[in-house]
Amino acid sequence: MSRQRLMPSAPIEVRAGVATDAGRKREHNEDSYFAKAPVFVVADGMGGYAAGEVASAAVAAEFGLLTGRPSVYASDVRSAFGRAVAAVHSLPAGGGAGAGTTLTGVVVSDSGGVGYWLCFNIGDSRTYRMRGGQLEQISVDHSVVQELVEAGSLTRTQASIDSRRNQVTKAIGAGGDGELDFWFLPAEPGDRMLLCSDGLTGELDDGRIAAILRETTDPQAAAERLVAAAVDAGGRDNVTVVVVDAFAVVEAFADGDADTVPRASRAGGRR
Ligand code: CA
Repeated sequence: MSRQRLMPSAPIEVRAGVATDAGRKREHNEDSYFAKAPVFVVADGMGGYAAGEVASAAVAAEFGLLTGRPSVYASDVRSAFGRAVAAVHSLPAGGGAGAGTTLTGVVVSDSGGVGYWLCFNIGDSRTYRMRGGQLEQISVDHSVVQELVEAGSLTRTQASIDSRRNQVTKAIGAGGDGELDFWFLPAEPGDRMLLCSDGLTGELDDGRIAAILRETTDPQAAAERLVAAAVDAGGRDNVTVVVVDAFAVVEAFADGDADTVPRASRAGGRR
């Protein structure tokens, strides 16, 4: 007698694209990424003299260990984050104000089998969601200018050109340790998640980013077009982009007895 095994199915089926470029001004690319379901992260290293790229690569590698499961939960992300912090602090340049990195990411998660995006962030890399053609920033920058905007001392436009715009208030290592912020968002077929380092948002405003995302259906082509546009616009920093499209999502539906049951639905031009 053979035992029937239920194959674990992903609560969100995704297609992803990724692109990165050192830009026009920097010799090294200190950004790192991991992009394989169910884990997607971008890390923007800092510290110079190769320290930044080692720190960001160490963090991306820790999160890469979360692959091989259909769903990732906040406890998994917290554990990976703890290991990532330890890994950065163990680097030769990892103490004090030495090597460090930002981290922004999204993992495929679920609640009772229903598909959710679990987003997390520390620093000034960003996570956005495009839904119905509208781009929304999910993460909140840990930066000096973000604090000034929230205090009403700067407008968003002023912040985008302020000389302090590259100063982060939290990071992994670099003397700026702090906690991750989390967002747990119900997923819909057609959702498009965008992760990026500030080399993208420092060159292109949200309107331009949204236009490119709307015009480009394929996630790999979208990531490449965004990076190319940032380099064309000046490329003053390393730029890294991950685009994650949900093409099938387990959503909650009410059945005849008003119980909700998880059921898969597929993208049908809802983007
Ligand atoms: Ca950067």
